Amino acid sequence: TLKTVFGFDDFRQGQQKIVEDVLTGQNILAVMPTGAGKSLCYQLPALLTDGLTIVVSPLIALMDNQLAQLNALGVAAGVIHSNRAREDSVADWRRAATGDLKLLYMAPERLMSPRMLSALRGVKIARFVVDEAHCVSQWGHDFRPDYLALGDLTTHFPDTPISAFTATADERTRDEIAVRLLGKAAKMHVHGFDRPNLSIAIMEKSQGRDQLISLLSDHRGEQGIIYCLSRKETESIAEFLCDHGYRALAYHAGLEPEERNERLNAFLTEPDLIMVATVAFGMGIDKPDIRFVFHYCLPASIEAYYQEIGRAGRDGQPARTVMLYGAGDAVRRKRMIEMNTTDASAAEHQRLDDLIMICESTNCRRQSLLAYFGDKRSPCGACDICLNPPEMVDAQREAQLVIGAMRETGEIFGSAFLVDVLRGADTQKIRDRSADQLPCYGKGKFHSAQKWRTIIRQMLAAGLLKADPEFGSIKRGPNLSTLEGVSQFQIRKQKGQTRKTSVEVAAMDGASQDLLAALKLHRLKIARERGVPAYVIFTDKSLMDMAKRKPESPEEFGAVFGVGAAKVRDFSDSFLHVIAAAA
Ligand code: ADP
Ligand code: MG
Ligand code: ZN
Repeated sequence: TLKTVFGFDDFRQGQQKIVEDVLTGQNILAVMPTGAGKSLCYQLPALLTDGLTIVVSPLIALMDNQLAQLNALGVAAGVIHSNRAREDSVADWRRAATGDLKLLYMAPERLMSPRMLSALRGVKIARFVVDEAHCVSQWGHDFRPDYLALGDLTTHFPDTPISAFTATADERTRDEIAVRLLGKAAKMHVHGFDRPNLSIAIMEKSQGRDQLISLLSDHRGEQGIIYCLSRKETESIAEFLCDHGYRALAYHAGLEPEERNERLNAFLTEPDLIMVATVAFGMGIDKPDIRFVFHYCLPASIEAYYQEIGRAGRDGQPARTVMLYGAGDAVRRKRMIEMNTTDASAAEHQRLDDLIMICESTNCRRQSLLAYFGDKRSPCGACDICLNPPEMVDAQREAQLVIGAMRETGEIFGSAFLVDVLRGADTQKIRDRSADQLPCYGKGKFHSAQKWRTIIRQMLAAGLLKADPEFGSIKRGPNLSTLEGVSQFQIRKQKGQTRKTSVEVAAMDGASQDLLAALKLHRLKIARERGVPAYVIFTDKSLMDMAKRKPESPEEFGAVFGVGAAKVRDFSDSFLHVIAAAA
């Protein structure tokens, strides 16, 4: 059946054992990385077993995607969801009820509705499959309240086996899934999480947009995903990329359903489209040839990060992942967590901090990521840290001061307060606690607050400090043997500007920078009118030269870098006008 129906010669790693266990009728939880081929582990057994396999899935797009693939394989499968014409869902239900379907997909709230539960009493059910099972975990990053109701499946159908699948690996989530969905007797399959074909890099975000363009220049004509934090950001980055000659679409939960479907379809069918998306995009999307996943923002957690980059290179071919990580992103994320005040927010803060630690760490990225999932490895030799080890500078004195401030304030405050104390800030909280009387007060004025936060983050990453998950207070970490301090501590040397253009821009005087911005705006307007990418009008380098020279006549305009006769003819009037207006 693997060959005749699915067309595969062999199982992939781990699949056969899972299929065998599913076929014995026990409850199982299989954890495999994104792209490993989890669907096959229940689709194949569904074809080999009498009765209907009911698959619970969290997203309509995901169900439709699976259905289309199964139909193309000639498998009798159906789907019931609210976005379909009612007749279609009804027709699929009839076929399921009469035994004509092998697989039926639906959302959890539909399955657990009283009507469906009682209708299912008359149907021969082979097993339930819960896909993306981590959605049941409040600890996990994709919690969906509707998944909680699935816990009653074992009560309603005590004799029907349940198979659960997820790519989210950490132990806590795993245990929660088992307890909530499967009862005690579940068999676990946990498979290696390494994705050797993914290259992994985490870069400091300095000139984010320039960095994106420079990253993308290695990927012309390829498909990829760029993750952003907000809807607005997806729109503006997509627009920015289009202006630079890329084909890009924004994707987020705020789009109308039809629009969203259209964009998803475009991404699935057109070979060179870049999806600029919020995390609303991607869960379960089975597109094998995504060549890159870039993060323009900090993901929400290590699990989320690993799933998001895991969407690249499912075909096993090399794929590139880069996260641009700016200090401001952590603040934005924290603010987002605080805005959704739920009980889980302490856990969310903790999960974010775990990720920040990997960003700040000077150890192999792959090693740190896999260690988080319980896989021990030696350094990979292929991530940004392995390829380009960061330069370190001594920070023993700083570490000493942080530890002193922590000790003197009793290990009950968070990093913001410690930084205030070190910097000698004059705040109400400091006066209330008489912290201005402490020996360490004001001893750290020689660094900015931001620098101190970086130092504290790296001390956390090194295990010298640890953050209390519940209160965020900073305490001594496992690698700090005595509170007297440390004999040695180094931090990463702050890299200067890496992109040449940004240095050039930084070197321009304020008026020229303002003019450059105006020129860019004007270029965008003309590019839009003509329906061409912005660089076709003028490259950034031309605009920069223009902003420096400030030509006043067509002759002077012709002397600007990259401006020939045709461009003088077509553009000198309007650009000279912009320059004159700015003077
Ligand atoms: P996930 O584990 O993320 O749910 P999927 O089930 O979507 O992964 O499978 C990812 C890709 O791997 C699909 O394109 C699928 O057809 C392919 N695949 C699954 N099993 C095999 C196999 N045994 N041989 C070759 N390709 C496979
Ligand atoms: Mg899947
Ligand atoms: Zn490495």
